[in-house]
Amino acid sequence: MKIADPTTGVSPRHRMLSRCCVLAGLIFFALAVPAWAQHPAAKTTADRPTVRVILFVPSDRRPPDDSLVGLNKVADLTDRLILGGIRKWGFRTGEPSLFQRVNGVVRPIIVAGKMPAKHYTKPSVHKEAIRSALQQNGVIAQPHDVWWVFVYVGEPPERYSDFRGGFSEEFGGWSVANYDSRMSRINIDAPLASGLNDTIALKGTIHELGHGFGLPHIGPKSRLKRGNTLMGPINAIYRRISGDQSGKAYISQASAAMLAIHPIIRGKTPSDTRLIPTKVSNARLISSPGATAGFQLSGRVAAETRPLVAVVGDHHEKRPGEYWTKHYIGPVGRDGRFQVHVNEAVPVDGEIKLWFLFDNGTMTADGQLRGARGAITLPYRFTAQQWQLTSP
Ligand SMILES: [Zn+2]
Repeated sequence: MKIADPTTGVSPRHRMLSRCCVLAGLIFFALAVPAWAQHPAAKTTADRPTVRVILFVPSDRRPPDDSLVGLNKVADLTDRLILGGIRKWGFRTGEPSLFQRVNGVVRPIIVAGKMPAKHYTKPSVHKEAIRSALQQNGVIAQPHDVWWVFVYVGEPPERYSDFRGGFSEEFGGWSVANYDSRMSRINIDAPLASGLNDTIALKGTIHELGHGFGLPHIGPKSRLKRGNTLMGPINAIYRRISGDQSGKAYISQASAAMLAIHPIIRGKTPSDTRLIPTKVSNARLISSPGATAGFQLSGRVAAETRPLVAVVGDHHEKRPGEYWTKHYIGPVGRDGRFQVHVNEAVPVDGEIKLWFLFDNGTMTADGQLRGARGAITLPYRFTAQQWQLTSP
């Protein structure tokens, strides 16, 4: 908002009038948007795709005084977990942070809700939050931004509980979770699923951001002994079923491969992000010796642009739930041939979900839907100590 310059050659009466108008405007503006929501940093524009952090505060709440500290701790931890996890698996990252930082600090976009806290219980809150950020806060989005909406409905035990994330045609990647005022006190060096980090559902918060990046549910691999996966089951269920009380959590190799092609991780926007349909031929399973050692899926993929990586989700029928689905990856050769080794297979029937990662940051197999939803399904049987595809 521009305030009139009193040194201009306007007559005293007009000056008085214009001052009244400015004053009235200021009062109106103050009523429409609370002072704490008039955040100058909210107008800054990133020149590359980033994760956009929104702190959404209903009309009858005020943001906690130390929310900047809390959100920056969460952002620092997330950078370390995601970017560190990607590099640990040998993939490249083009940027030092998922976020736009000014002097190292992430400035959240603080958005005032139109309604009181009790109104905001559903994930659709992300729509009001993102639209307000774009319209009222003047944020200019990049096409591949991922929105991370934190909803603050009050001090614990009050909390926003319907955590979600995904992709929408309107906003691209989005996710919504609770802002817990105890985030300012977390220890970012502590295991992700332990102590206060566990109490405030920090893994669940970042898990939803993972969905915003297009990640499906991906379960932990017991042989790695690295605890739960970011995209795996919720902490309490993981502890009960696995018996692992370490509180550790990690980014799976398949997640790292999917994240590594995303424009935010690469730090650049691809010119063409169409979903590319694929055709898979000669798909077959070769069981490794000893039956329980696993199997290898091989085949050949044809597409307008050759994909980089093949992804296999092993949906066998003994999984404790979808969150436990183990995923495996393998490179796609110049001739389109690929091999993916499933080394924690279970001797039961199941089905494989197969899809591909492309250089333009997309993932699909059918060219219609994104990620796992656009996968090819290959049912298999375990019979005579061998895994076999039921329909080649
Ligand atoms: Zn989920």
